Amino acid sequence: MKKPLFLTLLCVLSIGLYAASNEKPSERELVTQNMPEIEAPSKKYKVLCFSKPYGFRHSSIEIGKTMMEVMAEKTGLFDVTFSDDLTEFEPDKIKQYDAICLNNNTHLENGMKDPKMRETFINYVKKGGGIFAIHSATDGGWPEYVDMIGGNFAGHPWGAGGTWGIANEDSKHPVVKDVFGGKNFTIKDELYQYKDFDRAKNRVLLALDMSHEENLKRKGNRADNDYALAWLKKYGKGRVFVSSFGHNKEVFYNPEILKMWAEGFRYVLGEVDVDTVSIPKPVAQ
Ligand SMILES: [Zn+2]
Repeated sequence: MKKPLFLTLLCVLSIGLYAASNEKPSERELVTQNMPEIEAPSKKYKVLCFSKPYGFRHSSIEIGKTMMEVMAEKTGLFDVTFSDDLTEFEPDKIKQYDAICLNNNTHLENGMKDPKMRETFINYVKKGGGIFAIHSATDGGWPEYVDMIGGNFAGHPWGAGGTWGIANEDSKHPVVKDVFGGKNFTIKDELYQYKDFDRAKNRVLLALDMSHEENLKRKGNRADNDYALAWLKKYGKGRVFVSSFGHNKEVFYNPEILKMWAEGFRYVLGEVDVDTVSIPKPVAQ
Protein backbone atom coordinates (compact mmCIF):
# COMPACT_ATOMS: atom_id res chain seq x y z
CA MET A 1 0.00 0.00 0.00
CA LYS A 2 1.23 3.44 -0.88
CA LYS A 3 1.84 5.68 2.05
CA PRO A 4 -0.67 8.50 1.15
CA LEU A 5 -3.51 5.98 0.70
CA PHE A 6 -2.66 4.30 4.01
CA LEU A 7 -2.69 7.67 5.77
CA THR A 8 -6.03 8.59 4.18
CA LEU A 9 -7.59 5.33 5.36
CA LEU A 10 -6.19 5.81 8.85
CA CYS A 11 -7.59 9.32 8.92
CA VAL A 12 -11.07 8.15 7.77
CA LEU A 13 -11.03 5.37 10.39
CA SER A 14 -10.06 7.82 13.15
CA ILE A 15 -12.81 10.24 12.21
CA GLY A 16 -15.31 7.35 12.18
CA LEU A 17 -14.24 6.17 15.62
CA TYR A 18 -14.35 9.71 16.97
CA ALA A 19 -17.87 10.23 15.60
CA ALA A 20 -19.04 6.89 17.05
CA SER A 21 -17.68 7.76 20.49
CA ASN A 22 -19.54 11.08 20.39
CA GLU A 23 -22.87 9.71 19.23
CA LYS A 24 -25.78 10.71 21.37
CA PRO A 25 -27.15 7.87 23.47
CA SER A 26 -30.35 6.34 22.13
CA GLU A 27 -33.63 6.85 23.96
CA ARG A 28 -33.44 3.24 25.17
CA GLU A 29 -29.94 3.88 26.55
CA LEU A 30 -31.18 6.99 28.35
CA VAL A 31 -34.09 5.09 29.89
CA THR A 32 -31.72 2.30 30.93
CA GLN A 33 -29.14 4.68 32.43
CA ASN A 34 -31.80 6.51 34.44
CA MET A 35 -33.96 3.60 35.57
CA PRO A 36 -33.45 3.27 39.34
CA GLU A 37 -32.39 0.18 41.20
CA ILE A 38 -35.15 -1.12 43.44
CA GLU A 39 -35.33 -3.55 46.32
CA ALA A 40 -35.32 -7.15 45.06
CA PRO A 41 -38.97 -8.07 44.40
CA SER A 42 -40.57 -10.99 46.23
CA LYS A 43 -41.78 -12.45 42.93
CA LYS A 44 -42.09 -11.64 39.25
CA TYR A 45 -45.48 -10.13 38.46
CA LYS A 46 -47.32 -10.00 35.14
CA VAL A 47 -48.29 -6.70 33.54
CA LEU A 48 -50.32 -5.95 30.42
CA CYS A 49 -49.31 -2.75 28.65
CA PHE A 50 -52.23 -1.36 26.66
CA SER A 51 -51.50 1.67 24.47
CA LYS A 52 -54.36 2.00 22.00
CA PRO A 53 -55.74 5.50 21.55
CA TYR A 54 -59.36 5.88 20.45
CA GLY A 55 -58.90 9.64 20.40
CA PHE A 56 -55.69 11.71 20.28
CA ARG A 57 -52.55 9.63 19.64
CA HIS A 58 -49.45 10.65 21.62
CA SER A 59 -46.10 10.21 19.89
CA SER A 60 -44.66 9.25 23.28
CA ILE A 61 -46.52 5.91 23.23
CA GLU A 62 -43.46 4.19 21.75
CA ILE A 63 -41.04 5.43 24.39
CA GLY A 64 -43.65 4.45 26.98
CA LYS A 65 -43.31 0.89 25.73
CA THR A 66 -39.53 1.16 25.84
CA MET A 67 -39.75 2.41 29.43
CA MET A 68 -41.90 -0.59 30.34
CA GLU A 69 -39.47 -3.03 28.70
CA VAL A 70 -36.50 -1.48 30.47
CA MET A 71 -38.26 -1.35 33.84
CA ALA A 72 -39.19 -5.03 33.47
CA GLU A 73 -35.61 -5.99 32.56
CA LYS A 74 -33.75 -3.79 35.00
CA THR A 75 -35.90 -4.15 38.11
CA GLY A 76 -37.05 -7.76 37.60
CA LEU A 77 -40.39 -6.65 39.09
CA PHE A 78 -42.58 -7.90 36.25
CA ASP A 79 -42.86 -9.46 32.81
CA VAL A 80 -44.69 -7.21 30.39
CA THR A 81 -47.03 -8.19 27.58
CA PHE A 82 -47.74 -5.52 24.97
CA SER A 83 -51.13 -5.77 23.35
CA ASP A 84 -53.73 -3.36 22.02
CA ASP A 85 -56.18 -6.20 21.47
CA LEU A 86 -59.31 -5.75 23.56
CA THR A 87 -59.68 -9.52 23.86
CA GLU A 88 -56.96 -9.26 26.56
CA PHE A 89 -59.73 -7.78 28.73
CA GLU A 90 -61.91 -10.89 28.45
CA PRO A 91 -62.42 -12.69 31.77
CA ASP A 92 -60.09 -15.64 31.11
CA LYS A 93 -57.26 -13.42 29.87
CA ILE A 94 -57.39 -10.39 32.16
CA LYS A 95 -57.13 -12.55 35.28
CA GLN A 96 -53.55 -13.58 34.41
CA TYR A 97 -52.32 -10.00 34.91
CA ASP A 98 -51.42 -8.49 38.26
CA ALA A 99 -51.69 -5.00 36.78
CA ILE A 100 -52.45 -3.13 33.59
CA CYS A 101 -50.37 -0.21 32.40
CA LEU A 102 -52.57 2.23 30.49
CA ASN A 103 -49.86 3.80 28.36
CA ASN A 104 -51.19 7.07 26.94
CA ASN A 105 -54.34 5.43 25.63
CA THR A 106 -57.29 7.76 25.07
CA HIS A 107 -61.07 7.45 25.11
CA LEU A 108 -61.30 3.75 25.89
CA GLU A 109 -65.08 4.13 25.87
CA ASN A 110 -64.93 4.43 22.06
CA GLY A 111 -63.28 1.02 21.75
CA MET A 112 -64.58 -0.86 24.75
CA LYS A 113 -68.26 -0.47 23.95
CA ASP A 114 -69.46 -3.84 25.20
CA PRO A 115 -71.02 -3.27 28.66
CA LYS A 116 -69.94 -6.75 29.75
CA MET A 117 -66.30 -6.08 28.89
CA ARG A 118 -66.42 -2.77 30.75
CA GLU A 119 -67.86 -4.53 33.76
CA THR A 120 -65.19 -7.24 33.58
CA PHE A 121 -62.49 -4.56 33.48
CA ILE A 122 -63.88 -2.57 36.41
CA ASN A 123 -64.47 -5.73 38.44
CA TYR A 124 -60.92 -6.85 37.71
CA VAL A 125 -59.69 -3.75 39.54
CA LYS A 126 -62.28 -3.99 42.34
CA LYS A 127 -61.19 -7.55 43.01
CA GLY A 128 -57.53 -6.65 43.39
CA GLY A 129 -56.05 -5.76 39.98
CA GLY A 130 -53.61 -2.88 39.62
CA ILE A 131 -53.85 0.11 37.28
CA PHE A 132 -50.85 2.24 36.33
CA ALA A 133 -52.21 5.17 34.31
CA ILE A 134 -49.88 7.36 32.25
CA HIS A 135 -50.92 10.87 31.08
CA SER A 136 -53.82 10.55 28.61
CA ALA A 137 -55.12 7.35 30.21
CA THR A 138 -57.08 9.98 32.13
CA ASP A 139 -58.61 11.31 28.89
CA GLY A 140 -62.15 10.02 28.49
CA GLY A 141 -63.80 6.85 29.71
CA TRP A 142 -67.25 5.92 30.95
CA PRO A 143 -68.42 6.95 34.45
CA GLU A 144 -67.09 3.86 36.30
CA TYR A 145 -63.74 4.13 34.50
CA VAL A 146 -63.44 7.80 35.50
CA ASP A 147 -64.40 6.93 39.07
CA MET A 148 -61.73 4.20 39.13
CA ILE A 149 -59.03 6.50 37.67
CA GLY A 150 -60.07 9.38 39.95
CA GLY A 151 -60.29 12.24 37.45
CA ASN A 152 -60.95 13.13 33.83
CA PHE A 153 -58.99 15.34 31.43
CA ALA A 154 -60.45 18.84 31.15
CA GLY A 155 -57.81 20.69 29.13
CA HIS A 156 -54.14 21.55 29.52
CA PRO A 157 -53.50 25.19 30.14
CA TRP A 158 -49.96 24.18 31.19
CA GLY A 159 -48.71 23.03 27.77
CA ALA A 160 -45.87 20.80 26.56
CA GLY A 161 -43.48 23.66 25.79
CA GLY A 162 -43.54 25.24 29.25
CA THR A 163 -41.49 24.47 32.34
CA TRP A 164 -43.83 24.32 35.30
CA GLY A 165 -43.47 24.35 39.06
CA ILE A 166 -44.50 21.17 40.85
CA ALA A 167 -45.26 20.89 44.55
CA ASN A 168 -44.30 17.68 46.32
CA GLU A 169 -47.27 17.64 48.69
CA ASP A 170 -46.42 14.37 50.39
CA SER A 171 -42.65 14.45 50.73
CA LYS A 172 -42.46 11.59 53.24
CA HIS A 173 -44.61 9.23 51.19
CA PRO A 174 -42.57 6.23 49.90
CA VAL A 175 -43.66 6.82 46.29
CA VAL A 176 -42.35 10.42 46.09
CA LYS A 177 -39.98 10.90 49.02
CA ASP A 178 -36.93 10.44 46.78
CA VAL A 179 -38.29 12.41 43.83
CA PHE A 180 -36.04 15.49 43.69
CA GLY A 181 -35.19 14.71 47.31
CA GLY A 182 -38.84 15.17 48.31
CA LYS A 183 -38.65 18.84 47.32
CA ASN A 184 -40.62 20.96 44.88
CA PHE A 185 -39.24 20.93 41.34
CA THR A 186 -39.80 22.14 37.77
CA ILE A 187 -40.46 20.02 34.71
CA LYS A 188 -41.13 20.57 31.02
CA ASP A 189 -44.25 18.63 30.17
CA GLU A 190 -47.91 19.01 29.31
CA LEU A 191 -49.96 18.92 32.49
CA TYR A 192 -53.66 18.29 32.72
CA GLN A 193 -56.38 19.91 34.71
CA TYR A 194 -59.10 17.49 35.77
CA LYS A 195 -62.82 17.38 36.14
CA ASP A 196 -64.63 14.71 38.15
CA PHE A 197 -61.68 14.82 40.53
CA ASP A 198 -62.38 14.55 44.24
CA ARG A 199 -59.34 14.95 46.47
CA ALA A 200 -61.16 13.11 49.25
CA LYS A 201 -61.08 9.92 47.13
CA ASN A 202 -57.41 10.15 46.10
CA ARG A 203 -54.06 10.39 47.87
CA VAL A 204 -52.47 13.31 46.06
CA LEU A 205 -48.68 13.13 45.90
CA LEU A 206 -47.72 15.88 43.43
CA ALA A 207 -49.70 18.92 42.34
CA LEU A 208 -49.22 22.12 40.42
CA ASP A 209 -47.47 24.65 42.67
CA MET A 210 -49.82 27.62 42.51
CA SER A 211 -47.25 29.89 44.10
CA HIS A 212 -44.87 29.35 41.14
CA GLU A 213 -44.85 32.38 38.86
CA GLU A 214 -44.72 30.42 35.58
CA ASN A 215 -47.85 28.50 36.53
CA LEU A 216 -49.70 31.73 37.25
CA LYS A 217 -49.23 32.84 33.64
CA ARG A 218 -51.92 30.32 32.67
CA LYS A 219 -55.40 30.07 34.04
CA GLY A 220 -57.01 26.80 35.00
CA ASN A 221 -60.71 26.26 35.38
CA ARG A 222 -60.96 24.75 38.86
CA ALA A 223 -62.71 26.93 41.40
CA ASP A 224 -60.67 25.31 44.20
CA ASN A 225 -57.35 25.92 42.36
CA ASP A 226 -56.42 22.31 43.17
CA TYR A 227 -54.49 20.77 40.29
CA ALA A 228 -53.33 17.30 41.26
CA LEU A 229 -50.73 15.71 38.97
CA ALA A 230 -49.89 12.37 40.59
CA TRP A 231 -52.06 10.38 42.94
CA LEU A 232 -52.83 6.91 44.12
CA LYS A 233 -55.88 5.26 45.54
CA LYS A 234 -57.55 2.03 46.47
CA TYR A 235 -60.48 0.98 44.34
CA GLY A 236 -62.24 -1.89 46.03
CA LYS A 237 -59.33 -4.27 46.65
CA GLY A 238 -57.49 -2.86 43.64
CA ARG A 239 -54.70 -0.32 43.54
CA VAL A 240 -54.49 2.63 41.16
CA PHE A 241 -51.62 5.02 40.44
CA VAL A 242 -52.05 8.00 38.12
CA SER A 243 -49.36 10.21 36.55
CA SER A 244 -50.39 13.31 34.64
CA PHE A 245 -46.76 13.44 33.48
CA GLY A 246 -45.94 11.59 30.25
CA HIS A 247 -46.66 13.80 27.23
CA ASN A 248 -43.08 14.74 26.37
CA LYS A 249 -40.65 11.93 25.50
CA GLU A 250 -38.00 13.29 27.86
CA VAL A 251 -40.25 12.53 30.82
CA PHE A 252 -39.77 8.82 30.12
CA TYR A 253 -36.06 9.05 30.89
CA ASN A 254 -36.23 11.67 33.61
CA PRO A 255 -34.51 9.84 36.52
CA GLU A 256 -36.74 11.49 39.12
CA ILE A 257 -39.99 10.61 37.36
CA LEU A 258 -38.67 7.05 36.87
CA LYS A 259 -38.12 6.80 40.65
CA MET A 260 -41.76 7.70 41.20
CA TRP A 261 -42.97 5.32 38.52
CA ALA A 262 -40.92 2.38 39.83
CA GLU A 263 -42.33 2.95 43.33
CA GLY A 264 -45.79 3.43 41.83
CA PHE A 265 -45.49 0.05 40.17
CA ARG A 266 -44.42 -1.60 43.42
CA TYR A 267 -47.63 -0.22 44.90
CA VAL A 268 -50.04 -1.18 42.09
CA LEU A 269 -48.60 -4.69 41.95
CA GLY A 270 -49.11 -5.18 45.68
CA GLU A 271 -45.38 -5.59 46.32
CA VAL A 272 -45.59 -2.84 48.95
CA ASP A 273 -48.46 -1.44 50.93
CA VAL A 274 -48.47 2.34 51.22
CA ASP A 275 -50.74 4.91 52.78
CA THR A 276 -53.64 5.77 50.45
CA VAL A 277 -55.71 7.84 52.85
CA SER A 278 -56.54 11.22 51.36
CA ILE A 279 -54.75 14.27 52.74
CA PRO A 280 -55.99 17.85 52.48
CA LYS A 281 -54.24 20.29 50.21
CA PRO A 282 -51.38 21.85 52.14
CA VAL A 283 -51.97 25.47 53.00
CA ALA A 284 -49.56 27.74 51.10
CA GLN A 285 -46.95 29.23 53.43
ZN1 LIG B 1 -50.59 15.06 26.08
